[in-house]
Amino acid sequence: MKRHWPSSSSIRVNIRGGTSPRTGGDRRPARNAVVALAIGLLAMLATLPVAAQTRTLDGTAERRTPIHEPQRLPGQKIELRVKDTVENTFVRPRVRILTPAERATKAFTPATFDVTYTGFSAQAEVAFQAAVDVWSQLISSPVTIRVNAVWEPLGSGILGSAGSHSSWVNVTNGVPGVVYPDALADALNGSDMGSGDFDIEASFNSTFGDWYLGTDGAPPGGRWDLMSVVLHELGHGLGFLGSPTVDDGADAPECDGVAGHGCWQLGATFPVIFDLFTEDNLGIAIRDSGTFPNNSIALGNVLTGMDVFFDGDAATAGNGGSPAELYAPGTWEQGSSYSHLDETVFAAGNPSSLMTPLLGSAEAIHDPGPVTLGIFEDVGWEVAGEIFADGFESGTTSMWSASVP
Ligand SMILES: [Zn+2]
Repeated sequence: MKRHWPSSSSIRVNIRGGTSPRTGGDRRPARNAVVALAIGLLAMLATLPVAAQTRTLDGTAERRTPIHEPQRLPGQKIELRVKDTVENTFVRPRVRILTPAERATKAFTPATFDVTYTGFSAQAEVAFQAAVDVWSQLISSPVTIRVNAVWEPLGSGILGSAGSHSSWVNVTNGVPGVVYPDALADALNGSDMGSGDFDIEASFNSTFGDWYLGTDGAPPGGRWDLMSVVLHELGHGLGFLGSPTVDDGADAPECDGVAGHGCWQLGATFPVIFDLFTEDNLGIAIRDSGTFPNNSIALGNVLTGMDVFFDGDAATAGNGGSPAELYAPGTWEQGSSYSHLDETVFAAGNPSSLMTPLLGSAEAIHDPGPVTLGIFEDVGWEVAGEIFADGFESGTTSMWSASVP
């Protein structure tokens, strides 16, 4: 497998949540290894319809601009869509919210979020904060994670969308390498890369009429649980997203204008960290340019072949020893394909069902689950392991509805 990890640099930062190589390759950092990052800027390209809704979009003129000087481009946003089902499931949070005194005693430094709300009701803000409280105790960062949360009209059937505000590329020996979303770049760098800018841009659909704003994990049929949607969207903003796309052959070209061609939106040179762990069902890296060249049918086919997996040590461990299947439907779904777990494999009630592309009514998921936390650990987050409540619990609502935390 052809995967690469920066081996040296001019700035050294401590990656606290790295993983050790599982298969003898050198593609991943050793746990607690000091990995060099000189972070220059880069960019996830906003060629998506969703991204077009972001206010910071400055067009596509800078696509594939060589990175010879610091620059910033807007990040892409990934959607969560309505699934018109009644699930009656609840994945319980497995973190207990610590008191400030307890927090002070932990070697693990819970992440701090600073959320700027636009258009939220007071009750919606409460649900948002509940989701923030879950994430804050599962990942660590010395840098406050700034979230721009906007309650605004989105497309029909879309619950929310989110992504990083911008992304940064680490530079090794002067050569730009792997791209990191804002919040993770901050955590790895140990200081704020964006000088106080937002790290995460998240939007929630103000024209959707069936929100459930409670935080008890008990949305009834016909209601969609906002807290679950916030947890999901923050997951994208924190780094659950990759960079490939597939050209539909119409309108503005996503790749080279040829229908079915797959490509990397940041070009062949710049993988997003998430991309370094994805592979097909034979274990061949999606980034393997020999098998899946940029702007090729081969890349397009594998991205729409229903057999894309995330193969990182921690994610695989969290998935019972197998690489975790990503959402790769037969037709590319911009803003949905690849940057989600598979909807069928991680069905409602599955402990790791948070990061699937669809959410049913009466479906509450208040924990990222072991697969997503594993993915986060693999891409470089320091993930909490010691502050979980008494084991992981999930199941149908009827099993425990009397004791919803
Ligand atoms: Zn999503």
